[in-house]
Amino acid sequence: MNENALYYTLSTIAKTLAAAFGVLTAIVLVRLSTIQSVIGAAKTAVHETWGGNFNKAWTALRLLKGGAMRVLCAWCLKAGKGDAEALIGEREPVADKRTSHGICEHHRRELEERVTRLREEMRRQAERHDADVEDLRKNVDP
Ligand SMILES: [Zn+2]
Repeated sequence: MNENALYYTLSTIAKTLAAAFGVLTAIVLVRLSTIQSVIGAAKTAVHETWGGNFNKAWTALRLLKGGAMRVLCAWCLKAGKGDAEALIGEREPVADKRTSHGICEHHRRELEERVTRLREEMRRQAERHDADVEDLRKNVDP
């Protein structure tokens, strides 16, 4: 093998590699713009569905990807919200893909406030009742 053959062979390899690298770069750039548009669309969908609630959005995305037993707020569903908004989290067993129901923080607080109001109302009624009984007793046995 003479010197010229070696020179041309090596320079051809370098040129071929440079061309392949150029093609690869073009493919990556085209794919990057596609990936950016997909990320942009997903970002818009997440923002429209969950607003600023990052934790809820993250949980929902994780569950969409992996799949596990999803826990939805029964009160939210009853109020007409969709599964995505009613999603509370996930629960064991992770292999079970069915839906379970629970109560979200907002509706739990609302329910506790209602129970507190009812207890207070019952206490006031009991006090009125006791006062009425006391009045009756005074009238019967002054
Ligand atoms: Zn709820």
